[in-house]
Amino acid sequence: MAQSLQFEHKWDYAPAPEKIPVQIDDRYGLFINGRFIEPASDKWADSINPATEQSLFKFAVADQSDVETAVAAARKALPGWSGLPAQERAKYLFRIARRIQERSRELAILESMDGGKPIKESRDIDLPEAAKHFFYHAGWADKLDYAFPGRKAGPVGVCGQIIPWNFPLLMAAWKIAPALACGNTVVLKPAETTSLTALRLAEIFQEVELPPGVVNIVTGAGQTGSALATADINKLAFTGSTQVGKLLARQLAGTGKRLTLELGGKSPHIIFDDASIDQAVEGIISGIYFNQGHVCCAGSRLFVQESIMSEVLAKLDIRLASLRVGDPLDKNTDLGAINSRQQLDKINEYRKIGVEEGASLHQPSTSELPDKGYWSQPCYFADVQPAHRLARDEIFGPVLAVMSFRTPEEALSRANNTPFGLAAGIWTDKGSKIFDIAAKLKAGVVWCNTYNQFDASSPFGGFRESGFGREGGRQGLRAYLELS
Ligand code: NAP
Ligand code: MG
Repeated sequence: MAQSLQFEHKWDYAPAPEKIPVQIDDRYGLFINGRFIEPASDKWADSINPATEQSLFKFAVADQSDVETAVAAARKALPGWSGLPAQERAKYLFRIARRIQERSRELAILESMDGGKPIKESRDIDLPEAAKHFFYHAGWADKLDYAFPGRKAGPVGVCGQIIPWNFPLLMAAWKIAPALACGNTVVLKPAETTSLTALRLAEIFQEVELPPGVVNIVTGAGQTGSALATADINKLAFTGSTQVGKLLARQLAGTGKRLTLELGGKSPHIIFDDASIDQAVEGIISGIYFNQGHVCCAGSRLFVQESIMSEVLAKLDIRLASLRVGDPLDKNTDLGAINSRQQLDKINEYRKIGVEEGASLHQPSTSELPDKGYWSQPCYFADVQPAHRLARDEIFGPVLAVMSFRTPEEALSRANNTPFGLAAGIWTDKGSKIFDIAAKLKAGVVWCNTYNQFDASSPFGGFRESGFGREGGRQGLRAYLELS
């Protein structure tokens, strides 16, 4: 079987780079009280294009006093914003959503330049989803009392929001849209490697004349995030690593501040022998290689029923060889640049660990990578044992750990054998098996015969060390409301 599936790659695409010019200022200050201002810290840092290793622009590094200024602006804006008739708040959200749509081409290019993700993903996923979150929550703004019948819904207050670098604009939308719909004001801290699209979103807030102070954006690194967590906020929403999430949980314990944590994962992807194999292989590919594997819910542990292992691996090899790694702005690119040198080093370290642990590395031999930039070939490891670090640690890169199972019970116990619990995938032709296994998987989201499907109306979030709280849907509103 494996032999007959081999084929040689004899043709290639012509380059199809995104040509629309975009403008980027030399530097961006902090967005506080509706204006871009110089940081009191007087500190600046470079944001790098990971595909070229060149500086794109300088961003301000906010210190404690800058963060306090932003929180004070949000506090001052709170009575006005929460006191607006809900339909008026909704109009602002609609306007923001429309403006994101109108500027989506430009924002997609900026997202790919600053973060390294392929333009086809930022254009077709990040941008439409970001707009959708504002549209969706605009619809909720004047219906909150109906979302939780019998209770009166009011805002929580000033919300601190800290986001990671893998979906910069989309995570900003996930955080800001529900907070504003519920009448809260916001101080957002983007990740240090990817603050550009959040700052351009701030321009949109100016364009739609969002009242000053309703959303404030403080750029900087971990210390800026830490300053925000300890500032005078009423709620903290954090998306990032489990390690920092635990730190924040300790910092906030006993303060009375509300906390939601969207953390890491090592999600299982289970393929039964009765599955439609070709479709399952596509699911595996998008499950782990989407966004270079920088996805919290990536299907990074693949469990394949033993009887179909050789067929699945042979098809994976073929599919892997067809993936194009390179210029994020090329419309044919499947995997763009790794977000930072630091993340690339981490991924390479895990490749080494995998080989040392005795698993067998499979990666395409053909693809040439550009000289400059941070690149990682997509790969998978076969013969992985559940005790290997490859099977236990979140790598956050295009590295898949493949394991086998014989019975559904074994698949289930192996899949649940992790401290995480963010997502899971099941591929089978049998509806009864789907319902049975899905109900027993310890994961916030379970995808059946598909993977990585998202919608603003569908709650997303984790179990166990993947965090607590939900984002999206009616459930996602809960974290931003005081119910009486
Ligand atoms: P991270 O290091 O935890 O950073 C996340 C954010 O927290 C960044 O803005 C970061 O700033 C900031 N930060 C770092 N140290 C901090 C501290 N001591 N106090 C307050 N804030 C601090 O995570 P990451 O490496 O950027 O992101 C990858 C992780 O996010 C993965 O584990 C992934 O699974 C998780 N993630 C989860 C979800 C979800 O919905 N569950 C979604 C996406 C990503 P700097 O980056 O500027 O240092
Ligand atoms: Mg960058």
